[in-house]
Amino acid sequence: MRETADVVIIGSGIVGSSVAYHLAEQGCTNVLVLEREAHQGKGSTGKSMGGVRAQFSTSVNIEMSRYSIDFFSRFEEVVGHPADYRPHGYLFCATTQKHLDYLTANRERQRSLGVENVELVTREDIQKFVPQMRTDDLIGGTFCPTDGFVDPHSVMMGFMLNAREKGVRLWLDTMVIGIDVDDARIQGVHTSRGFVTTKVVVNAAGPWAKQIALLAGVALPVEPLRRQLVPTEAFDQLPQRFPMVIDMSTGFHFRREGKGILLAWNDPDETPGFKTEFDVSFVEKILTRAAGRVPCLAEASVNPRRAWAGLYEMTPDHHAIIGPSPEVEGLYFVNGFSGHGVMHSPASGRITADLILNGASDWIDARQLNIERFKTGKLLEETAVL
Ligand SMILES: Cc1cc2nc3c(=O)[nH]c(=O)nc-3n(C[C@H](O)[C@H](O)[C@H](O)COP(=O)(O)OP(=O)(O)OC[C@H]3O[C@@H](n4cnc5c(N)ncnc54)[C@H](O)[C@@H]3O)c2cc1C
Repeated sequence: MRETADVVIIGSGIVGSSVAYHLAEQGCTNVLVLEREAHQGKGSTGKSMGGVRAQFSTSVNIEMSRYSIDFFSRFEEVVGHPADYRPHGYLFCATTQKHLDYLTANRERQRSLGVENVELVTREDIQKFVPQMRTDDLIGGTFCPTDGFVDPHSVMMGFMLNAREKGVRLWLDTMVIGIDVDDARIQGVHTSRGFVTTKVVVNAAGPWAKQIALLAGVALPVEPLRRQLVPTEAFDQLPQRFPMVIDMSTGFHFRREGKGILLAWNDPDETPGFKTEFDVSFVEKILTRAAGRVPCLAEASVNPRRAWAGLYEMTPDHHAIIGPSPEVEGLYFVNGFSGHGVMHSPASGRITADLILNGASDWIDARQLNIERFKTGKLLEETAVL
């Protein structure tokens, strides 16, 4: 028997799961999600730091965060499963006037878009959050109390469980190996389990999105970029609860994770590619930045075997690509989150479902996220990338 579906979603990470949920919410339940792994969450979703923030610089990212954070705050009530949203805040710390001006301008934009709770903070305020931090060179910063963290695995599972309760099908252990296009229209998908007839394919393949697009003969500017995280062993010299703290002088940032501290830093020497091995030499690089800002972190012990690496899905302007392919009718992208795919999963699932079912979204102008911006030059440069 030939399998058919109204919509096939390739990839069951947090983004594919959100698209499935939002389609089912709007009554579209003849949906098949294809996942090559035996379990969900083996891609970027399972490696994420789980940070959510509205403190962005572009209107579209601020709007997507606003929608998504509100969604996370009601997730259990709406989806019926927990998201473990913890509004512990994000605290950006500036050491230069240029950075402070940047934060101040971002705050104005955030407030104009309804994110009214971003506060300008002084060095003294910052010291109260984390008294152990070296603050002599800080000149101020911004803090948003509704920024914070979610559990990406719970969110992904919640979206998918809810969608499946409504009739969406999930095929694990199923690799997509080809996409049939005829007369510039989607006809179906070849998988390791056979052919699926469909007129609509959603590319939700995370860092592998470019390869999936190529199966349909379409070029998609999404590149994988390694990102490494280092957890410390139990560490009680910092408060039990404090925000995600970002040291803008180096890009180093950290938050509490259970009994230890989770350390993050974007290595500027990293180059694109499917590199998922953790590089042990990264530990020294990050601990140098950590001890420079929080001297007592020099005493934290780190087991490199507990550290990990995953892949960001980068686009040239650090914004997601969401919407239909102009070249192949029925092919939709929801890709290239450039480090923000967990926090923007509710908004991107909603936008994608709106576009598939209604041709437009009624809460945001989704055209600005279309792939065509790379041809027309209407790029959306986001500079607040962590
Ligand atoms: C270390 C790290 C920290 C991060 N921190 C944050 C953060 O704090 N906040 C935040 O918002 N974002 C963060 N991100 C980014 C975020 O994790 C990603 O943007 C998000 O998980 C992307 O979700 P996805 O569903 O698109 O991709 P994925 O989770 O990668 O899912 C894609 C799925 O597609 C499947 N697939 C691929 N090819 C095929 C095929 N041919 N056939 C079938 N299935 C296929 C894969 O197996 C995979 O399961 C972080 C990422 C990393 C690596």
